[in-house]
Amino acid sequence: MMVVVSTLLADPTGFSEPAPSPLLLLGQGRDLASERGVECPGDLPAPSDPDLVDRARAARAALGERAFVLGHHYQRDEVIDFADVTGDSFKLAREAAARPEAEYILFCGVHFMAESADILTSDRQQVVLPDLAAGCSMADMAAIGQVEEAWAVLQDVGIADATIPVTYMNSSAAIKAFTGRHGGTVCTSSNAEVALRWAFEQVGGVDGTGKVLFLPDQHLGRNTAVLELGMSLDECVVFDPRKPNGGLTDQELRDARMILWRGHCSVHGRFSAQNVTDIRAAVPDVTVMVHPECRHEVVTSADLVGSTEYIIKQLDAAEPGSSWAIGTELNLVRRLAKAHPDKHVHYLDSTVCFCSTMNRIDLPHLVWAMESLVEGRVVNRIVVDDDDAHWARVALDQMLALPGI
Ligand code: SF4
Repeated sequence: MMVVVSTLLADPTGFSEPAPSPLLLLGQGRDLASERGVECPGDLPAPSDPDLVDRARAARAALGERAFVLGHHYQRDEVIDFADVTGDSFKLAREAAARPEAEYILFCGVHFMAESADILTSDRQQVVLPDLAAGCSMADMAAIGQVEEAWAVLQDVGIADATIPVTYMNSSAAIKAFTGRHGGTVCTSSNAEVALRWAFEQVGGVDGTGKVLFLPDQHLGRNTAVLELGMSLDECVVFDPRKPNGGLTDQELRDARMILWRGHCSVHGRFSAQNVTDIRAAVPDVTVMVHPECRHEVVTSADLVGSTEYIIKQLDAAEPGSSWAIGTELNLVRRLAKAHPDKHVHYLDSTVCFCSTMNRIDLPHLVWAMESLVEGRVVNRIVVDDDDAHWARVALDQMLALPGI
């Protein structure tokens, strides 16, 4: 049974049809139209099963080269131990595409990542997400119906022709497809600057009057536009899909260069500038390094900002004895601290939790998914419909064609 709580109740204007927030009872039903869903038919091993690791090893060995296990940097150690490769979302999708011999791609990440893997792999490869509840709150903040309504607003205001959509990798296949249909591109946290420069070139250049509709992470969009492209904060506006006209006047939309979707990461969005002040006071000579999904004031207070791959490389190259405070997902920071015992690695805010949806993928779900495959049952397969897959691929290919990618 699925209980749906519509956020429209909180919107007295009734202007838009926001995505329902499905509250799914564990193990009962799923909603593939959103990033969320829970289904685990059959026997899920108990986390306390003392044979769990042996079962995982046996199932992995039985699958051999027919399976390829991808582990996102934010996954738990117990899952990472079984990953054939680790990386960020885009690296993992490319790794999957580079393994045509693998019949099954076990994606230990979240739903939008598994969708991208399905889009980039061949039809004979099947992508499995061990727990369908592993969604992404940021991706959920931009539903395709909302984005289409927003585009209609831009058309009504007369600025759609001068606007290019750019979506962060952390978005559903439907949003990537929307971007492809409207001549835009996908970006990652590593290539957001290049992607934005390209997008502005399509509508008259960074110094012109054209606009970018940036989905769904307002912070990555703002940080890149202001810190990399030299725009002012005033040139960035936030489009709130729950408000008429996005909560903006026609003139504000016409004057804006960056129209930022009102979305954010529920993990990175929790770090504050006060955290940076506090850690500097507590740890002498600390270098503060954060992810660009953090809020603007956090990024501007930090010493270094970059993607997960960038953060890993900086730590690898750091001097022994140096002190670091890192603002990104806790599983990754804990692993980095363990991998660098000769450096002092601190978490930027000890009250910020793991990414709860990433953590849905645990060893019991991975064992269940692998044992099911060994028995010939493909569970939790992620399939993107042909039309969305085509247009999302157009947007992804556009990203791959960007200079320096
Ligand atoms: S860390 Fe943030 S952006 Fe990444 S999957 Fe979790 S909620 Fe989504």
